[in-house]
Amino acid sequence: MKHVLSCEQFTRDEIMGLFKLTDHIRENEKAYSGAIADKVVATLFYEPSTRTRLSFEAAILRLGGKNISTENAKEMSSAIKGESLTDTIRVVDGYADAIIMRHFEVDSAVRAASASRVPVLNAGAGSGEHPTQALLDAYTIYKNKGKVDGISCAILGDLLYGRTIHSLIKLLSLFDNITVYGLSVETLPLPEEYVKFIESRGVKYVPVKCLTELPKDLDVIYQTRTQTERFLEQGIVAEEIVLSKASMAHFGPGTMVLHPLPRNNEISPDFDDDPRAKYFEQSLNGMYVRMGLLYEVLVNNK
Ligand code: ASP
Repeated sequence: MKHVLSCEQFTRDEIMGLFKLTDHIRENEKAYSGAIADKVVATLFYEPSTRTRLSFEAAILRLGGKNISTENAKEMSSAIKGESLTDTIRVVDGYADAIIMRHFEVDSAVRAASASRVPVLNAGAGSGEHPTQALLDAYTIYKNKGKVDGISCAILGDLLYGRTIHSLIKLLSLFDNITVYGLSVETLPLPEEYVKFIESRGVKYVPVKCLTELPKDLDVIYQTRTQTERFLEQGIVAEEIVLSKASMAHFGPGTMVLHPLPRNNEISPDFDDDPRAKYFEQSLNGMYVRMGLLYEVLVNNK
């Protein structure tokens, strides 16, 4: 049995295997429509979600599985009565064959996995990691560029609290010859532990101060929302680096723009019909990558 907790756990071969399986499922969806017919999967969400929960639930249903769900577990589960996370997991693991969980604490997925007899899939843990998002982000890069090796990727916005960024750069570090440019709002830089981790795996990390310092032939811009829910109480003011038709004029036709969504103002809707805007394609890819992942975990037991 395998939990999916952090992008640190993957090998490059596992990622490429998942991408191939995802493509195969996508091209032969009917053949997979009963793949997990005997399985019940729980989606246990203690924080808001649109794409992650619904794409996982769609993935479960499209593979013929059954889903039990609480979309607001912080208020609507026994957490409000003081039940510990590990007690909840000890009960839910009897009802379900896998648990997909989003929680507000950084170590929640690890704690849940330590209590669970079934696989736990981390669907976002506080400001820590969001590994299944990174899988679909890297898959979207792979589909558009035909490879992940050798890409240059600028991470933008809230690098401090953005869990999607933390997972993505760890995942990219499995590939060769990767350059990551960091452009954060001043108060929200990438924590040193992540810089050290990716550099130890051979990634070149280059902090920059503005969009025009980025190379015109950059491969990927990964824009993110400022995670106001994590820092308002600390008095940090939310700022934004805005991508728009005008600011994107700096980049060439090969610079694709990704965003985990939801967005606020950091990508102007006037850019949405630009062929370089890939964020809606990215969220659709999420459903297929999650079908692949569920198949690996529940059928291949990988
Ligand atoms: N949906 C992503 C997440 O849950 C990104 C975000 O909320 O800004 O981390």
